[in-house]
Amino acid sequence: MVNTDLLIGLDDTDSKKGMCTTYLAALLVGLLKECAEIADYPLLVRLNPTIEYKTRGNAATAIKIKTSHADRVKSVVIGAVAQNAELNEENTNPGIVFAEDSDAEALSEFTERAIKHTVPLEDARKIIADMELGYHYFKNGRGLIGALAAVGADRWLVDNDYTYELITYRTMERWNTSRYIDEKSVWIADSETYPLTWDTVDVHNKKIVFAPHSPCPVLYGIRGDDIKAIESAYEMVESEPVLMRQVFRTNQGTDSHLMHATIPKVIDGESYVLDGIISKPPRVIEGGHLIFKISDPADGPSIECAAFEPTKNFRNIVRSLIVGDMVAVYGSVKDGTLNVEKLEVMELADNVVRCNPACPSCGKRMKSAGMNQGYRCRKCGTCSESPETEVLKRDLAYGLYEVPPVARRHISMPLIRYRSSDKIVHPSR
Ligand code: ATP
Repeated sequence: MVNTDLLIGLDDTDSKKGMCTTYLAALLVGLLKECAEIADYPLLVRLNPTIEYKTRGNAATAIKIKTSHADRVKSVVIGAVAQNAELNEENTNPGIVFAEDSDAEALSEFTERAIKHTVPLEDARKIIADMELGYHYFKNGRGLIGALAAVGADRWLVDNDYTYELITYRTMERWNTSRYIDEKSVWIADSETYPLTWDTVDVHNKKIVFAPHSPCPVLYGIRGDDIKAIESAYEMVESEPVLMRQVFRTNQGTDSHLMHATIPKVIDGESYVLDGIISKPPRVIEGGHLIFKISDPADGPSIECAAFEPTKNFRNIVRSLIVGDMVAVYGSVKDGTLNVEKLEVMELADNVVRCNPACPSCGKRMKSAGMNQGYRCRKCGTCSESPETEVLKRDLAYGLYEVPPVARRHISMPLIRYRSSDKIVHPSR
């Protein structure tokens, strides 16, 4: 019998009411042991975060196995998806792709596209047909896009940056109920393993951020760069019973969605790093969101940027910006507005303010002498017609800032992971 290396890609099995594609992958890792050997960590790939069909974090998964029972494997996988996917939900359209592990190299480019751009379903179908890959789908089969990208991630992650997440799952009778996790144990687990694990807690906002609030089967996830540190954090966390746990290799925390571009090249539904000069200062709108504009340093077109209320203390950085500051903004563009995830302060403009002139005799600030009558020193009686200007000290340091863990997207790189030595970073914790 031939022992084949197979990659199984899965996507679009969940809805806002329940399930999670990572749960199905973890379940399959257990179920497939009967007919296959699990060859590596399963993959969890976060695709373009702006996709309108996504349930939450636009995740797709892939499992790598060795088997001499490919037909049995396929029927176990299709059966598990049929049984567990939220097929009654309109927006759940599962897709499964079966490929040989040698196919991953050719699919890596498709993975890159699905992380950064919007891919039509027909393109995924054509690649599947051209490469003669095995597949199965339910309903409109949109999940084939993510499933195909997850297979290509087996190669894509090798050529790019990756991290790990250990996800724990709840026993079925607890789904849809509030989670029991001992908070104190989580703070200890974090302080013992940070920065090899990250985004478990938000210190500034005093919040535990590693557990979802949705009705899905996930209890919590521990993210990091080092599997040993992740495992040791897991050992420290006390919680309700864990049904199963699974470590995934992933592009979470890598900023793989971002593309360097200039403002005129920006299109909706993609994520960028854009250099610009503040051309409209930050203003608060209803709900506590901050809106400002940056203009292209070369030829002037501008783009609106937003630091939304959930970004909490990050807005203090944005609030300090003034017209003329040179920045780089990082984030996704939707409806013409860039949702800021990171901000680099590159040059600070002089903060010039008008003030009443100083009295040449006593040095004290003169007072207004009345409408259109200039200024007069109350003590000395000296007069002046025009105000003076003063350059105020800026309370903002150069470097890269980020939204706090409580507002961090799965795919965004925490600055504590930032490896480039040419930038000053201000990690938010
Ligand atoms: P969760 O993260 O909770 O598992 P989700 O947020 O991953 O859920 P899905 O239910 O998987 O959301 O829905 C995303 C859908 O969008 C899938 O059908 C997937 O194939 C498709 N999709 C993903 N990336 C792209 C892309 N770049 N272009 C077009 N479609 C995409």
